[in-house]
Amino acid sequence: MIRRMTGKLGHLAPGHQKPAQVQQQVPLPAGLTPEYRGSISTERTSESESSKNAEVVDERRRGLDMPAFPHQRRQKGTYRLTDFYFQRTLGTGSFGRVHLVRSKHNLRFYAVKVLSKEKIAKTKQIDHTNNEQRMLLAVQHPFIVNLWGSFQDCSNLYMVMDFVPGGELFTLLRRSNRFPDPVAKFYAAEVACALNHLHGLDIVYRDLKPENILLNLDGHIKIADFGFAKYCPNTTWTLCGTPDYLAPEVINQNRYNKSVDWYALGVLIFEMLTGLPPFHITGEEHPLSLYQRIQRGPAFLRFPPALNPNARDLVLKFLEGDPSKRYGNLHHGAGDVFAHPWFAEVDWERLRAREITAPYLPKIAGDGDASAFERYPEDDAVSSYGLPAPDTFGKDFPDFEYTST
Ligand code: AMP
Repeated sequence: MIRRMTGKLGHLAPGHQKPAQVQQQVPLPAGLTPEYRGSISTERTSESESSKNAEVVDERRRGLDMPAFPHQRRQKGTYRLTDFYFQRTLGTGSFGRVHLVRSKHNLRFYAVKVLSKEKIAKTKQIDHTNNEQRMLLAVQHPFIVNLWGSFQDCSNLYMVMDFVPGGELFTLLRRSNRFPDPVAKFYAAEVACALNHLHGLDIVYRDLKPENILLNLDGHIKIADFGFAKYCPNTTWTLCGTPDYLAPEVINQNRYNKSVDWYALGVLIFEMLTGLPPFHITGEEHPLSLYQRIQRGPAFLRFPPALNPNARDLVLKFLEGDPSKRYGNLHHGAGDVFAHPWFAEVDWERLRAREITAPYLPKIAGDGDASAFERYPEDDAVSSYGLPAPDTFGKDFPDFEYTST
């Protein structure tokens, strides 16, 4: 199985302007091959055309224009490095890695995401990282990973989460090639519930894809990686996400709203049902043709003839290029999605209560079994955690407590 690259790469040149063609409009982030499925994010400069618009929220101007996040945060636990036995790596990203850990106190297993402050600062992802922590702390939902607490030392940030043992939906999908209609519908329905909850809190998620959907012991989903999640009561405009899953308005560098998540759900449903995202390009094609296809919209999409017509209809409604006409973003909001004929047999109440039996039960040998995750080189990363070092960026992450020293 091909492992897709992960990580947040790529930056538009400072002062980047907005030409007519997508070819000039979206320079490819370094390493963006057609197989590339990692998350990308760009910073924009306040000199660009659009920022002259007084309504535009420039995410670089941290804390100045950004609306304050109004939701009550949960009381977080206080944790320190020495509370845990660090075990194997579960996943890696461009800023660090996620470890399986075991609490020395209650002997339970957790996942700890370790992020290098220096790498975050160098790639201008400070706001996104602070958002990730804030959004996750504000959210408690059965289909979203739980953040127990966070802390920092001189070099790294640490986020203590539930360990979700069933692995990524991505792995299951690639092994299965594609999902039968009821299986895709089950996962899509749980994702729709989670998105509806986030949007109700005015949080836009911005990186929906099978890699970020983990499977719990009981086969239900837990959405992880809130690296691009953001409080967004109106619109925002940072170019971030994963190329195959970007809505056309994001590629066009227009302001956009939470409906980009419904667009991404359309891509996800298509990928689950067919095995590939709708505008996927092969190795022989120019990588930019992906963006051109997304901009051209679904009119030229080829759906497999056997595809359920209701599934096709919902995908088309999500892939609608005009956000004001997109399902999930109309007068009835998520209500239209829940009422769509493809979901006709879904009992939403029972689904939310996790009473619908999941179609696939991960094979887990016992607590702390991480065999559903791929192996990554450990690179002795753990030995560097907690060491004294110059701490240049600590003040940039005020919500991460210093508890380790
Ligand atoms: P992230 O940087 O948050 O996307 O995490 C990288 C990878 O680590 C994910 O794709 C998962 O494979 C794994 N991972 C992240 N969070 C968890 C978790 N709470 N439990 C188990 N694995 C996780």
